[in-house]
Amino acid sequence: MITNAQVLTFLTNKDGLTLSKVEKEAQIPKGMLSKSLSGERELNQDHLTKLYPVLVGYGWKEFFQSKAKVIAIVNHKGGVGKTTTTLNLGKALVLSGHKVLVIDIDSQGNLSQALGVDNPDKQVLHAIIDDEPLPIYPISENFDLSPSDLSLASREIEMIRMVLSELQLQRAIESKLSQYDYILIDCPPALNVFTTSALIAANSCLVTLQPEIAALKGVKGLFDHIFQVQKRLNTNLHIEGVLLTMVDQRLNIHRDIIEQVHQQLNPFRVFKTQIRMNVALKESQISQIDIFEYDSNSNGAKDYMNLAKEIMA
Ligand code: ADP
Ligand code: MG
Repeated sequence: MITNAQVLTFLTNKDGLTLSKVEKEAQIPKGMLSKSLSGERELNQDHLTKLYPVLVGYGWKEFFQSKAKVIAIVNHKGGVGKTTTTLNLGKALVLSGHKVLVIDIDSQGNLSQALGVDNPDKQVLHAIIDDEPLPIYPISENFDLSPSDLSLASREIEMIRMVLSELQLQRAIESKLSQYDYILIDCPPALNVFTTSALIAANSCLVTLQPEIAALKGVKGLFDHIFQVQKRLNTNLHIEGVLLTMVDQRLNIHRDIIEQVHQQLNPFRVFKTQIRMNVALKESQISQIDIFEYDSNSNGAKDYMNLAKEIMA
């Protein structure tokens, strides 16, 4: 049976609905829907039963069936391309015709800053600690951001003390699933409560690796963490793939390490697409725009578009 919360999500997000018309067609009291939207009244079982066939006529099933694929971008280390990947893979998916939400759950707030959102009033922490709706900042057509900044770190202890706090991000994302095709979560460089929250909320995770000497150091711990979440809290979670970033194929050391990555991470998928070292990616981040707007002919733009194609395939 449908719930009060689902009806509110549908009414809030479905364009072109006239509340009075829906009330009339469902034969429920006039003004009931606006009162339920404002929290003044709650729809009872009789209202819900009468509303259901009417809302089906307005696309209820299509709305709730189209669910976003949620991908957590993870690595326990910093500086390995997580934020760059979240931002530019996100934009590549938008350019391929999808609606995308990117979520920043790193207290460094690099993703938010890279998208021009500094010191956001409403941020992810309000959804996961204060039970508020996930804040959505439109960036460009079909591309939205849920931002964070340093305030997230200041409330980490509260989060750790809260009962089952790791489930809060999943709860906050649930009501957004029907509105997007992809939701990408940019994780912090640690296996902390926020990374665990992302792995619980996600369908899959994408691990970024830079082919440097210590690339594989700690990766076993990262995979063990992913498997623990999978076993205990999210049996649907799978590994989307391992993405090599900042690659320079001219360097022997990069070629050697990439070979080792393929051997040691077998049978996991290592994406065919490698993100080449490309200064335009760094410059675009500083200019607070994505790589496609900054330089659509750059290697960075080409590589992230190829990655999007692999993920959509
Ligand atoms: P993380 O989120 O894992 O900490 P970032 O995505 O922020 O890593 O990347 C770290 C730094 O490297 C940033 O300054 C970013 O602009 C730069 N960078 C990321 N990918 C590339 C690349 N392929 N080529 C050149 N610089 C890159
Ligand atoms: Mg980052």
